[in-house]
Amino acid sequence: MADKFKDECGIFGIFGHPEAANMAYLGLYALQHRGQESAGIAASDGEQVRVSRAMGYVADTFDSETLAHLPGSLAIGHVRYSTAGESKLSNAQPILIDCTHGQIAVCHNGNLVNARELRDDLVRQGSIFQSNSDTEVVLHLYARSKASSVEDAVVDSVSQVQGAFSLVILTRDRLIAVRDPHGFRPLALGRLGDAVVVCSETCAMDLIGATYVRDVEPGEVLVVSASGIRSIKPFPPAPLAHCIFEHVYFARPDSYVFGKSVNEVRTNLGRILAREHPVDADVVVPVPDSGVCAAMGYAEESHVPLRMGLIRNHYVGRTFIQPQAAIRHFGVKVKLNPVKSILDGQRVILVDDSIVRGTTSRKIVRMVRAAGAREVHVRISCPPTISPCFYGVDTPQRAELIAATHTLEEIRQYLEADSVAYMSLEGLLSAVGNERDSYCSSCYTGRYPVPIPRDEATYLQLALKLDKDAVAKEPVAK
Ligand code: SF4
Repeated sequence: MADKFKDECGIFGIFGHPEAANMAYLGLYALQHRGQESAGIAASDGEQVRVSRAMGYVADTFDSETLAHLPGSLAIGHVRYSTAGESKLSNAQPILIDCTHGQIAVCHNGNLVNARELRDDLVRQGSIFQSNSDTEVVLHLYARSKASSVEDAVVDSVSQVQGAFSLVILTRDRLIAVRDPHGFRPLALGRLGDAVVVCSETCAMDLIGATYVRDVEPGEVLVVSASGIRSIKPFPPAPLAHCIFEHVYFARPDSYVFGKSVNEVRTNLGRILAREHPVDADVVVPVPDSGVCAAMGYAEESHVPLRMGLIRNHYVGRTFIQPQAAIRHFGVKVKLNPVKSILDGQRVILVDDSIVRGTTSRKIVRMVRAAGAREVHVRISCPPTISPCFYGVDTPQRAELIAATHTLEEIRQYLEADSVAYMSLEGLLSAVGNERDSYCSSCYTGRYPVPIPRDEATYLQLALKLDKDAVAKEPVAK
């Protein structure tokens, strides 16, 4: 749905497979939910790294001919989401450069909080940037490194950046996976026969038949080469800050992220939500697809039957032609349609994972009521979202977050619901068990584990909340 935090990016890497680019294609296909603006693959045959990138979905971007031009047994790939105005090919990944250390291609999931500062320094020293992506900073640092080996140059460059970064890096003969010391973004390690696979979510391994081995650890640099896998831990210890929103909404429910089943955590959120905020009602209805797991948990715990009272059209493209004549709730109707036989005359518990601006939620409540619902009770499986993200997630400015500027009663009135209730922070953290201290929950608390720059332009850029006209001169995004 439109009014959501936007997924960041999905990354994939494989070493030691005769059809590496094809595997990367399939991996990206499974990670498509993490970014739909552009897709790219870089592959190496041991002699040369080649890259192909394009705007659009993975399935539209690559065909067998394109993949045939990416030979070799090593490959990395990337799907990207970008904010409006930044959706251009020069920002698509992998980014490939050739420098004194040889060719190197990089894919990044996350957001570097000191990218602007580093970039300004690099530009002063003569660096010329091809894109306005923060990821390119890593490549410039790599190219300028005086380290004698590729590994040491990678370590040298990633040691200078701060914030959220899961990276897959490809050189002529090796695959390198890096995860920031806080472990903001997921990165899983697996095996496909003798081949080594790394990817944002395990659903990418499932598609190609790979087996999950473990996560790339926070602060780990994993070098995969013909001589095996080498693990380097170059960063000083730092508090863990896994993005809890991966469990709430971003990741696919069939994935494991941060070592946990997303489906289990998300369903558990629904159970906790039912215990925290019960209500007399006839039917639990998920807002598909994001609210389905939590609604199942809510129904199970509350013993109120779950019914699919809203049906999603899975074939809505990114653009459609809006008819001239006004059609009530058109924007949301094109994606969701209410099932009158389920909703008519019923007291409905509408379960969704989050509310950002509230605009879509209001349309859905109205739509459910128009289908005959007697009461509509909105239940949200995370706490009120009150603060933007600076670690690689596209969120609106704080002023646009309804929960940052409105009381619960004002939100209820805006949504035109009979009641609205959010999961508590305590409830959210309890859903991930005894690893609760390992998670970032800054968008619910406004307390940030990695300091963020305070000057306005950088602040806005990092939060990916660009007012195009005001601060889009050097947008930072991925
Ligand atoms: S601020 Fe929210 S969305 Fe961003 S990393 Fe933290 S939990 Fe995830």
